[in-house]
Amino acid sequence: MTVDKEALRRKYREERDKRLRPDGNDQYLRLTGRFAHYLDDPYTPVMERAPKTDHVTVAFVGGGFAGLVTGARLREAGVEDVRIVEKGGDFGGTWYWNRYPGAQCDTASFVYMPLLEETGHMPTEKYAHAPEILEHCRRIGKHYGLYDNALFHTEVTDLTWDETRSRWLIRTNRGDAFTAQFVAMGIGPLHVPKLPGIPGIDDFRGHAFHTSRWDYAYTGGDPSGAPMDRLADKRVAIIGTGATAVQCVPHLARACRELYVFQRTPSSVDVRDNRPTDPGWFATIATPGWQQRWLENFTANQTGAPAEEDLVMDGWTDLSRRFRAKIEHLRPEELTQENMLAAFEDSDFEKMEEIRARVDAVVEDPETAHALKAWYRQLCKRPCFHDEYLQAFNEPGTRLVDTGGKGVERITGKGVVVAGREYEVDCVIYASGFEVGTDYTRRAGYDLTGRGGLRLSEHWAEGMRTLHGVHVHGFPNAFLVQPTQGANLISNIPHNLTEAGRTIAVTVRHALDHGYAEVEPTKEAEDGWVEFLLSGTGRLLGSQECTPGYYNNEGQDPGPKSWLGVGHPHGAMAYFAFIDGWRESGTFDGLDFRHGGQDR
Ligand code: NDP
Repeated sequence: MTVDKEALRRKYREERDKRLRPDGNDQYLRLTGRFAHYLDDPYTPVMERAPKTDHVTVAFVGGGFAGLVTGARLREAGVEDVRIVEKGGDFGGTWYWNRYPGAQCDTASFVYMPLLEETGHMPTEKYAHAPEILEHCRRIGKHYGLYDNALFHTEVTDLTWDETRSRWLIRTNRGDAFTAQFVAMGIGPLHVPKLPGIPGIDDFRGHAFHTSRWDYAYTGGDPSGAPMDRLADKRVAIIGTGATAVQCVPHLARACRELYVFQRTPSSVDVRDNRPTDPGWFATIATPGWQQRWLENFTANQTGAPAEEDLVMDGWTDLSRRFRAKIEHLRPEELTQENMLAAFEDSDFEKMEEIRARVDAVVEDPETAHALKAWYRQLCKRPCFHDEYLQAFNEPGTRLVDTGGKGVERITGKGVVVAGREYEVDCVIYASGFEVGTDYTRRAGYDLTGRGGLRLSEHWAEGMRTLHGVHVHGFPNAFLVQPTQGANLISNIPHNLTEAGRTIAVTVRHALDHGYAEVEPTKEAEDGWVEFLLSGTGRLLGSQECTPGYYNNEGQDPGPKSWLGVGHPHGAMAYFAFIDGWRESGTFDGLDFRHGGQDR
């Protein structure tokens, strides 16, 4: 394939420039005040209960994968007294809230769904659908007895370290005020829905909801794919064409009388190639230790680390495969940074040309096909994979309304306006995503007050600081479960979480076994880790050359704070190997274990 690289670079820049806007993250609306009802739980009624004022060994904020895998590892380590506090009505996190039609994992189930080996579950498909993943979350909760002490429909409002008693005081929106020796937090990278700040958004008199609170009472159907029969006479607008819209648009296209898909930036939509799992095949791979092998193999392939085979073989590993093929014939002295970057760009151009060619091959109307093509490098925005999304635009009732990169102009009482034309609709569905670039404590909904009254928001005023992405100086007995400053593996978030869960379980076990009341990273260790992180090449995602999106702070310079939003300088595999060795050594380098106030 020959590509005019200079022409493509120019086109990418032009398309980016069309979308740049000075308000960056401020263009979005927070769902508070008059928008708060968008957050109501449509799935589970809220039950009355008495506030908790007791004490637990470990409190965990968040009942998604992070809380489940950490709870599981703690239970395996013999820590019985674990309380998960979750704002949803059940375990699941992302998979509790995101029940929109067609929701499924985009990373192969065998590596995406945690604790498969431990719970004995065989994913039914290469890319499992949401109901199966939610059920798996419940399976983990039951298997490890995590339901016993869990608090659902409960939001932590405050976490304060009690220095005299070496414990955390946890307050919630349900009046709880209980204590815990340890707290851990896995609030999820994408859990606060946002709305686009479109003028007139308040004026709409029809029905409206966000994709993460799907209103099946309005649409009919259910998350398992039953047809949304109540839309048969409805005109529906969906605003946004990210990974969520890509999955639910085909279902809407089949169900609605008229569907208008409002697009600001097209997603790159590569082949999905989902298929049911053959139990015979699964039996051959599911030998002891299989999931860890698959996890490591996927991460190695996805991040360009050496790997003898590619077990998952999909779109996530394809770019690395192409890149490797381009550099494998180079002599050692030719492996310069310049040649590597050129090989990476060439692989990307080829990949994106194929993705654009697929649009032409699938979409019948040439104008629609033209508008659906993504003009940026594949990792500028979240890559999407689907085998029915592009086809949906061939449905007679479905219409793409491309906004030329500018977004929806306004919303009126009756519908949605683009380029001066009003599209009258009965329902507006916001597939407008989740807060990403905002501060951790804003997304968490609480601040931590640590030793000496230090607030986490203050400690991180110049950017995140941790030891290994897990421990924070000044915040004893508190742990984070998230990817940043650790492996930072974006393509398979659960891999980061299971490793953090292991680290926390080992640390808590050590403290309990030796009667330590407190554990905290030293300042030297935290500073040293941060310095080590900064010795790398910096952030992989988030180039300002890219079209705006949440990967690059909506195209606005995120400032020096973002320099700390990195992972291990030698990549995810290096981090996992390092942290495994750290745990195995049993020396807990960088952590200070204490018997409490008296020995500080
Ligand atoms: P995104 O933030 O990716 O998409 C939001 C969409 O809304 C974008 O298309 C955006 O356009 C559009 N938008 C915002 N403002 C306007 C406006 N004023 N007018 C018109 N359009 C507008 O949210 P998603 O919920 O799709 O996905 C969020 C993330 O969740 C994904 O990136 C992925 O990480 C995860 N996810 C994972 C899935 C999986 O693993 N299976 C499935 C779904 C989501 P623009 O691009 O121009 O900003």
